[in-house]
Amino acid sequence: MKFNQKSNEKQLLLKAVNKFTVDATSTKNEQFSYKINKNEIEFLLCPNDKKFDLCLFTWKISALFFTYKEKNLTIDLNTFLKYCPPKYAKNICNIILNKAVLFNEKILSFKTNATNYESNIIFSPTYKPLVDEAYTLACGTKFAKYLQVAPSNVVNIIEFVHLTNQKLQKINKNLKIKILGKNKMAKKGLNLILAVNKGSNEEAKLLLVEYKNNPKSNENVGLVGKGVVFDAGGYCLKPSPYLIGMNQDMTGAAAVVGTIFSLAKNNKKVNVVCAIPLVKNLINQNSYIVHDIYQAYNKKNVEILNTDAEGRLILADAIAYLSKNYKLSKLVSISTLTGLSARYFGDINTPYWSTTEMDANKIKLSFIDAGEYCANIPLLPAHTTMVKQSSNFADCANISKISHSDSSFAAAFLKEFSYCPNFTHIDIAGTIEYKKYPINPFCLVLYNFVVKNFEENVH
Ligand SMILES: [Zn+2]
Repeated sequence: MKFNQKSNEKQLLLKAVNKFTVDATSTKNEQFSYKINKNEIEFLLCPNDKKFDLCLFTWKISALFFTYKEKNLTIDLNTFLKYCPPKYAKNICNIILNKAVLFNEKILSFKTNATNYESNIIFSPTYKPLVDEAYTLACGTKFAKYLQVAPSNVVNIIEFVHLTNQKLQKINKNLKIKILGKNKMAKKGLNLILAVNKGSNEEAKLLLVEYKNNPKSNENVGLVGKGVVFDAGGYCLKPSPYLIGMNQDMTGAAAVVGTIFSLAKNNKKVNVVCAIPLVKNLINQNSYIVHDIYQAYNKKNVEILNTDAEGRLILADAIAYLSKNYKLSKLVSISTLTGLSARYFGDINTPYWSTTEMDANKIKLSFIDAGEYCANIPLLPAHTTMVKQSSNFADCANISKISHSDSSFAAAFLKEFSYCPNFTHIDIAGTIEYKKYPINPFCLVLYNFVVKNFEENVH
């Protein structure tokens, strides 16, 4: 991404200077519309504060960027910021830079004749502080997207740890990284993480990242991200079509890494601690199998009824470990967890479950500020009962044999492992792709959530 600090008073809100044409129509009645001329795009917008909808704005931006994905685009930030309500200036900056990175920059290519694409951002010096923060965030998102899309023979468990370690080194003196390997995890009783990884050719890791930069605050936000670098489903093997995309089953982990990078690099006055369990769910003669029973970190015994429901197992141990050993005020887990959530909610709305209304509202605002749609799903006592009754022999099983609400079952299952009462689970299984194109906009959502908790609690 390149930057040009100059004032541009043109009313063209977005100008793409590529030599290609796209069919699109301009609808005057819509809040936003765009029309495409031969060599340029006009992005029209009604500057009406009351009607301004950040999510709709983002949706339109995504559609436009998708049309011109992986091209050299010149984006005139000034015109967006000039015509949008001023209170949204920061969000607009964050959203545009993040989307530019997600759609217009080539993140990874093994094509022998690959071209490098770059977005060119034009902005006036007035907006420099906003652009600086947004740029760091976009770098975090870019890193997260690289981890997400890289195949698992390129970014395996070792490489994920190596790249993350490298990326987070020396960016902030208040950032600490700890890595637990197989032996340390076995000693601590993180048996669910180890069980899932038994069929793997690599050692499982638990990556712990702590960033304490607000000693005056009692707030300490925990983030847990699912890091299955490849999910074949284990002995409950996925049919071939469902194996496609399973190198992205660590997008939650990538989002958490990108978020902590952005927070620390921007020197935000927050306290946050992350746990990232990293495994591969494969098959060999040691693999865990159906009806095996393992003791989790919180001492509960879990019966395995489906080896493809592995995400909730590694998250359960990470959630229990983080909330037991670090005094957390809030805990959020993020994961590509259930195929059902992708089928039910589709690729627009991200579902989430919160134990408190206050957290549910904060999460919703964090999504809206990132321009992302979300759906707050209730976590009912009936779901918890379902978890407790799911196994005939152990404290619980990892799926329910009698219920079809697997997404809510998984949320209730995870809640049982949190020592922190303020718990939220976000299921991104359906929303890591836009029209089948991989995207990872969740660093911005998590970043907003962490910052929100400290903005309201400055002492
Ligand atoms: Zn799975």
